[in-house]
Amino acid sequence: MATDLAVIGAGTAGCALAAALRLRGWSGSITLLEIGRGPGGRTATRRSRSDPSFALNHGAPLFNISASPEPKLLEALRQGGWIAPFNGALASLDGEGRIGAAQPDPLSSGALWLGSPQLDGLCRGLLALAQQHGPTTLQSGTLVRTLEPRSDGQGWQLYGSEGQPLLECSWLVLSGTLLAHPRCQTVFGWPDVPLQQAATQLGEPQLCAAATALSQIESTASSNLLLSLSEASAAAWRLQPWRLLQFTPAAQERWGIRRVSLQAMPAGRWGVVVESSAAFAERHLQVYGSRSSAAQVLGAAPQPQAEAQVIEALDRALQDALNLSTAGSERQLMRWGAAFPKPPGLAAELTLCPDSRIGFCGDAIAGLGFGRVEGAMRSAEALAKRLVPLLDAAA
Ligand SMILES: Cc1cc2nc3c(=O)[nH]c(=O)nc-3n(C[C@H](O)[C@H](O)[C@H](O)COP(=O)(O)OP(=O)(O)OC[C@H]3O[C@@H](n4cnc5c(N)ncnc54)[C@H](O)[C@@H]3O)c2cc1C
Repeated sequence: MATDLAVIGAGTAGCALAAALRLRGWSGSITLLEIGRGPGGRTATRRSRSDPSFALNHGAPLFNISASPEPKLLEALRQGGWIAPFNGALASLDGEGRIGAAQPDPLSSGALWLGSPQLDGLCRGLLALAQQHGPTTLQSGTLVRTLEPRSDGQGWQLYGSEGQPLLECSWLVLSGTLLAHPRCQTVFGWPDVPLQQAATQLGEPQLCAAATALSQIESTASSNLLLSLSEASAAAWRLQPWRLLQFTPAAQERWGIRRVSLQAMPAGRWGVVVESSAAFAERHLQVYGSRSSAAQVLGAAPQPQAEAQVIEALDRALQDALNLSTAGSERQLMRWGAAFPKPPGLAAELTLCPDSRIGFCGDAIAGLGFGRVEGAMRSAEALAKRLVPLLDAAA
């Protein structure tokens, strides 16, 4: 199979890149390759094949746009009904268990947005925008394992986890850092870091610099507890004066929780998503949620006992902190090994390597909105602007 542009990752940045290229009038073929079952990445919504009323945002519960001008794609998403303003209340919890006013923090400054009806509406909307204006394909459930420069120097050949050829492309964009970071060696047991390997093979200085910088980006983790409640058992939760509750540093230290969101699910059900503190996640880094798509694609060995212990610890802490019962809830764990990148991120001048026909976008690119959805969108828009003339020239 061949495509003009291959994008690895269909999270916010990958999908925003496809949409932003179309807004700029580029109509070549785009193929997005994604490990997960659908688009979204860290803005995905977990669903259940057997339970149509289950839909929980298991990564980011919402997103904020902190500066103007806003990303150009926002208006099209708003008009398409893919996102909607967050009208719920924000509050904070202190180390004594007292609810107070929301504290200013980078995740809540500016305008707050929800996906519609769930957060994955954001990426679904971006893909729909891209698909309206040119051939755009999403290959989900696909792990890209190896990046090989084409022998004619005109692009890349991508291979899957079994060494099978996946796709040949004229241009390549990595929208996540996984293939560039040594954590892929820990997670998958690979002997090499694919981008580093490709950079060494090509020996192109700008790509080598980008690969090195990406490999050095550190991240903080988050262990998320997902609770799904019936309408009746959610009654006491819905009376709370908040929909998003931040834990102050003292509260984080006491309960190991960073934030809690209360989310409406289909058919009157409610979800509570508990995001652990970075310190809690660090202590339980080896414990995956067995239903996460990464664990399923990787075939990670189930650890039912360890998983139950982490779920239990977060559930107990939540009930203790809020004095609310979680009885009757269904519980799942989602562990984000790299939830938030740490600054400084990849410098803007290294995001495009024309000689190697490769580019980078995502929330790990230095700039406005770094480490957030806003940064993922802005980095994609900035890359699209620089890519279009090169893609046109390659056509
Ligand atoms: C718990 C949590 C809470 C958050 N809260 C907020 C918030 O309140 N506000 C906010 O703005 N942001 C928040 N964020 C951060 C926000 O989710 C991210 O900044 C944003 O989603 C990043 O988008 P991205 O496209 O750069 O990366 P990702 O969403 O990580 O997308 C990268 C994609 O690439 C795929 N991929 C990687 N390697 C491969 C491969 N080799 N083959 C195939 N696919 C691959 C991954 O599966 C992933 O889907 C939160 C994140 C987490 C985890």
